[in-house]
Parts: sequence; structure tokens; C-alpha cells
Amino acid sequence: MAKPRVIYWFRTDLRLHDSPALKAALDLKPECLYPIWTWDPHYVYRARVGPNRWQYLLDCQNDLSKSITKINPKSKLFLLREAPQTLFPKLFKAWKITHLVFEKDTDAYARQRDEEVMKIAKSAGVEVVMKVGRTLYDPDELIKHNHGKPTMSISQVQAAGKKTGAIPRPIPAPTKLPDPGNTDLPFSQEKPPQDPDINATQRDGKEASYSALTGPNNDFAVPTMRELGLQPATTPHCGGETLALQTLASILANESYTATFEKPKTAPTAFSPQSTTLLSPHLHFGSLSVREFYWGAQDIVSNFKGKASQPPTSLTGQLLFRDMYFGAQAALSFPFGQTFNNPTCRFIPWHLPSTIDPATQLVTGSYQIDNAQAEEWFQRWKYGRTGFPWIDALMRQLRTEGWIHHLGRHAVACFLTRGGCYIDWERGAEVFEEWLIDHEAACNIGNWQWLSCTAFFAQFYRVYSPVAFPQKWDKEGAFVKRYVPELERYEGKYVFEPWRAGVGDQRRWGCRVEGDGSEGVDGEGGLKRYPKPMFDFPTRRDICLKGMKNAYHVGLYGNDPKVLDGTWRTLFDDAAEGPTTGGNGPPGAMVEHEDASGGEDHDVPAPPSPKKAKKVARESEKKATGQGKAKIGHKREASQGTLDGIVTRGKKPKKEKNEEVFPNETHYG
Ligand SMILES: Cc1cc2nc3c(=O)[nH]c(=O)nc-3n(C[C@H](O)[C@H](O)[C@H](O)COP(=O)(O)OP(=O)(O)OC[C@H]3O[C@@H](n4cnc5c(N)ncnc54)[C@H](O)[C@@H]3O)c2cc1C
Repeated sequence: MAKPRVIYWFRTDLRLHDSPALKAALDLKPECLYPIWTWDPHYVYRARVGPNRWQYLLDCQNDLSKSITKINPKSKLFLLREAPQTLFPKLFKAWKITHLVFEKDTDAYARQRDEEVMKIAKSAGVEVVMKVGRTLYDPDELIKHNHGKPTMSISQVQAAGKKTGAIPRPIPAPTKLPDPGNTDLPFSQEKPPQDPDINATQRDGKEASYSALTGPNNDFAVPTMRELGLQPATTPHCGGETLALQTLASILANESYTATFEKPKTAPTAFSPQSTTLLSPHLHFGSLSVREFYWGAQDIVSNFKGKASQPPTSLTGQLLFRDMYFGAQAALSFPFGQTFNNPTCRFIPWHLPSTIDPATQLVTGSYQIDNAQAEEWFQRWKYGRTGFPWIDALMRQLRTEGWIHHLGRHAVACFLTRGGCYIDWERGAEVFEEWLIDHEAACNIGNWQWLSCTAFFAQFYRVYSPVAFPQKWDKEGAFVKRYVPELERYEGKYVFEPWRAGVGDQRRWGCRVEGDGSEGVDGEGGLKRYPKPMFDFPTRRDICLKGMKNAYHVGLYGNDPKVLDGTWRTLFDDAAEGPTTGGNGPPGAMVEHEDASGGEDHDVPAPPSPKKAKKVARESEKKATGQGKAKIGHKREASQGTLDGIVTRGKKPKKEKNEEVFPNETHYG
């Protein structure tokens, strides 16, 4: 019998070590193995990605290609610049492929794409082998053992994980790789349409990654940033399996750090080095295997002589959070990424809501500016000009470096949503999607829901203070001064609240607090300029708390017929945060508010009829529960055992007192 001719399709797994899918490909004992990457236009044009994450991807691809060539000088990572859906039918034929092997990807778009590719393979007589390797557990198995429901707590992951079976031990990298076969491509490239290009704003040159199927030099090379027309990356963080394994090794070499790691005790203000592992981008690109990380840490914990930390705060606990969000996303698919039609996400009438396409029931990628003030706050938040140095430092770190500490993410997410601006969490998630080098759809969406108290977490009265919280970690404000250098000469607590400094001190410290930050940092008389705070924080916190309390009282979830048909407005007081004007309106999104002016306007589609809204609600429940009987999400079940459950069981929750405590003490994830 002829030996298999195999394509190994790299996607979420840019590594050679611990790759169950690569092992499965090699176990076929193929006559030839083509390690390929298809340059998928979905990610090039339709998903938000800034230069830093592109650069990281290219680092990973270049490193992987080198490692492949080291094992077999005839081989490398073959980059093919065409959409997989149009490329594979031609490729299967040209290279006489018998098997297509890849790592399972449960992201909503990826599932859709893979189903299509599997159909193409079937009709071409190509056998598909798909293996789990991106997460500790197969997200679909977690859901199955969680009664068909999305995993919404660590205890659910742990219980379902037990039934799924032990987390497999990592497998070593191969020492041999078969040669690729003939790489001739006797067919023409189908160029994907560039329009709409959501990443156009990231480019300062012409996007030319589809100039030729095998690249400008016809050598299947990894594209360059220039070919992508992208602005240069500014992140100091570099990608690639080689570096990932070195970083992991140096972390594990510090046994006491690894064994006693407790997330809430790590400082969000630490830099050079940061206080956590910074392995998340490696996990995102699969340049580090999550099982390699898990077992490396677990073995140290098991042999540790002192008192080791435990999930959920330990390092292994952090990885369980990652699996939790993958399990939630895999169960809910596209609706997981939005409030509208999401059975597990609370509905809050935030400002700047997403517009919804009534045909697909999905967000369109644009949003409604219901309130001009909110839009201004959003832009100031995004570009680090809020006038709150802690928030601005974090947002500037995010924009330039692509990574911020978890509690820094907490702070900016709480501030944008329920603890300051009352702006839709979907706006914040989009900014993170654009700028994070570790952007992982499941984790990003899930954590934004957690922080906005729309899912996973419900203690909305615990709000982060942008002034008191950072001082717990960094009295001198070294972190703020690094990212907001205008304030580098400020002293003591004034670094965190510079507007309180007298004019004399402001002059002495070389920076006036004035304006809204739109005029740049260079002020008059050789002085720097830093913006005034965009609002009085305690006042805004109280307004947000009232709004949250009311929204919780109304108690709608994203798939409620009233959310779907727009009649939710009748349940919210016009004076409440955010504004409503009663009556019907567009689905999910709010009707135009009278003080909205200027800025971008977005088309608002017509809402579905009440009958259609009910039908959609029924269908989404059925999908999420796997049965369609029990109403999920509408009431927090006692058995859900979320982290907030852990906290409230131990201590009676304080009665909605406006707390400026350090909420991270109760946030383990
Ligand atoms: C609003 C918000 C958005 C976020 N978006 C993302 C995202 O897009 N991608 C992403 O990987 N993480 C995201 N996180 C989770 C978390 O902040 C990062 O995983 C973590 O900060 C990465 O740094 P680290 O590798 O040093 O983490 P460590 O503390 O060293 O943890 C080790 C690993 O555990 C995983 N992990 C830790 N905390 C979480 C968590 N809360 N949720 C999921 N996984 C976790 C990560 O893979 C991380 O690399 C987000 C958190 C918030 C609050």
C-alpha cells in the first residue's frame, strides 16, 4: 500500500515540542510531510490586530521554520498566501495528499472554517486527523461533562476535568521529520478581497501579503512587516518557541517562585521584570505548550518542601482559568463575544453599544455613539489621556508594548465599564483585541465579562480606585513615571493625583495639569502638560453603582426577548445610567441620545419582531444548554460555585457599600 502523503497545517501550535497533532502526523509514517501555514485573510483583514501582535506571529513563524530546517535541512515552514478554503482543494490535488493533520481550534470562526475544510477534504478523499493540544482539556469534553453547559467557574472546570481524565503529560519534540515532497504549484492563486480591511488603520504602507502565492521571492517565506504594509512594532517582547522554552525553564528554575505563586499577591506595577510569567503570548501562538507549562509547575509543587499555593491562585490555577474561558466560548460560539443573544451575559444598558446585524444576530464591528461625552471618555481611555495617571500609564503600556499585568487589566476594564465611564465592555474588548500580543478571544471576552460583572463575577460594588489601588504596590509611582514621563518629577501621592498639586509645585516639577490631553505633552515655557482628570471619580463611581444596581434588579440576560426586540428600554428609567428614551429601538443597541453630537455615526438596523426575538432566544438557550429546557443564566444557580461564591460563603457580602477596597483580593482570575 502507498505510504501517506501528509500536510501538517500549523495554526495555533507554532512549536515542535509537545504537539499531539504533529505526533499523530508522524505516527502515520508518511512518505512526505508538508509543514504549512495558510495566510488566512480572515485574520489579515477581518480580525483586529495591531503591529505588535503581527510582529510576534512572524517571530514565531521564523523560529519554527528554522527549527524544522535544523531537524531536516530539506524542510521548513511553507507559507502559502491564500485562504485555506480556496487553497486546499487545489493543494490536495497538486501534492497528491492523503492526510491533513492539525490541532483542534474551538474559536468561533476557526470552527466554521475547519468544518468547511473538512468537507473539502472529504470530497477530495483526504483523511483529516485533528488532535487537542491547545488547552489542558478538550473544551468540548469539558462541556460534555459540565451537563452540556458552558464552564462558568473553576470548580466546574475541575469537576468536569476529573471526568474527562488526567491532563496528559507532554511529549518530546521529534528528532526527525520526513522530507516534503515536490512543492510545485501548478495552479493560480485566488486573491482574497481586501475590503473591508479592519486593520487599515494599522498600516502606513501598501498591504501586499497576497502579491504571490509563495511570496515575492517564490520561496514560501514568512512575510515581512513591510509586505503587510504595517507600521513598525514597538513591543520589546519577542516570540518563538526557542525563547518560550528558555523563559519557561528560567521560571521553573526558581522553584520557590513557581511553587508559592499567588496571583493576587503579584504586583501590577512591577516591570523589568514583571511579577508574573509573561508566558501568555507564547501560549496564544502555541509556541509554548500549555501542558508543558502545567506539568512543569505541577511537578515542582508536588516536590516542594514548603507550603505550596493551590488553584485558583497558583500558577496551575491560572491555566485552569484559561481552560474555563475556552469551555465557555466553545459552548456558546459567536454569541459568547457579545451581550446580544448571549444567554450567560447580563444585559446592562451601557453607553456606546455595539450595532447588531439582524440577519446574523451578531455584532457588526461598529458601535453606536449614543452619547458624545461617553465617546470622548472612550477615546481618552484608549489613548491614555484620562487624567488618571495609573489608568493612562497602563493604557500606554498596552499600546506600546502589547502586554499589561492582569490586575492592570482589571483596573482599566473596571474603569471603562462599571467603575467610571459606564461604557460597553465590548468597546474595551475590541481595544484589547487590537493591541494585546497575547490576545486570546476566549480569555479576552471572558475576562471583560468578569470585570464588567456581566458574567463569571457579580460583586459590582467592588470598584477599583485609580488612586488608592496602585499606591498599595508602588508608593513612589515608578510604574506611572515610566509610562507617563511628563510626571517623572512629581513627588509622593501627587504622582497618582497630580491635579491636587499646587500651581507652584506643578511648575517646580516641570508639568502643568491642564487641558484634555489633545494638545500633546509640550506646554508653554518649557513645561510639560498632563490632562486634568476627565471626571470626578467618586461621583462617577456612585453613578455607575446606581446604574449597576438597577440593571441587576431588572435582571435581563443577553438572550432575553426584551433585549432582542429592544423593549428593554421600557424597564429602565430615562434618568438612569445609561440613557434610555423608552419605547422600541434597535436590537441591543440604544437609541440615539439627544446630547450625541459629532463623531462617527453608524447605521442602526431594524429590530427583529417580538416573535422572531422569542424564537432566537429559544434557539440560543437550546444551543447553550444542549437541550433547550432549562433556562440558563437567568438566575445564578447555587451550584455554580463561582469564585464570588467562594468569597461570599466565607464572608457575608457587605451591603453594597461603596467600596474602594482592593478587589483583587477576591479576584483570583
Ligand atoms: C480585561 C482582561 C482581558 C484579558 N485578555 C486576555 C487575553 O486576551 N489573553 C490572555 O491570555 N489573557 C487575557 N487576560 C487574562 C490575564 O490577564 C493574562 O492571561 C495574564 O495577565 C497574562 O500574563 P502572564 O502570562 O504573566 O500570566 P500568569 O499570571 O503568569 O499566568 C500564567 C498563564 O495563565 C493564564 N491566565 C492567567 N490568568 C488568566 C485569566 N484571568 N484568564 C485566562 N487565562 C489566564 C495565561 O495563559 C497566563 O499566561 C485578560 C484579563 C483581563 C482582566
